[in-house]
Amino acid sequence: MADGFESGSDVFASGFVLLGLTLAAKPPDEDHPYGHGRIEILTGLLIGLGLTAGGALISYASLAAAGAGANASTHRAHRGATE
Ligand SMILES: [Zn+2]
Repeated sequence: MADGFESGSDVFASGFVLLGLTLAAKPPDEDHPYGHGRIEILTGLLIGLGLTAGGALISYASLAAAGAGANASTHRAHRGATE
């Protein structure tokens, strides 16, 4: 599951970088008289946030799985002691 997320996020990040570079390369226009260079920063920031959120989700899922395992063995030990 983590491997799938990682390859998926790689594709996502690469596409986003490409999009950011394409948009940033646009010449200045009426809406953006100073050009579009800041889009690069913005996309980099969004990618960082996205990957951080993904990493946090993976960590949470791992901890939840570990917690579930610990609870299950505790429960078994408890039952073994009382029944
Ligand atoms: Zn523009």
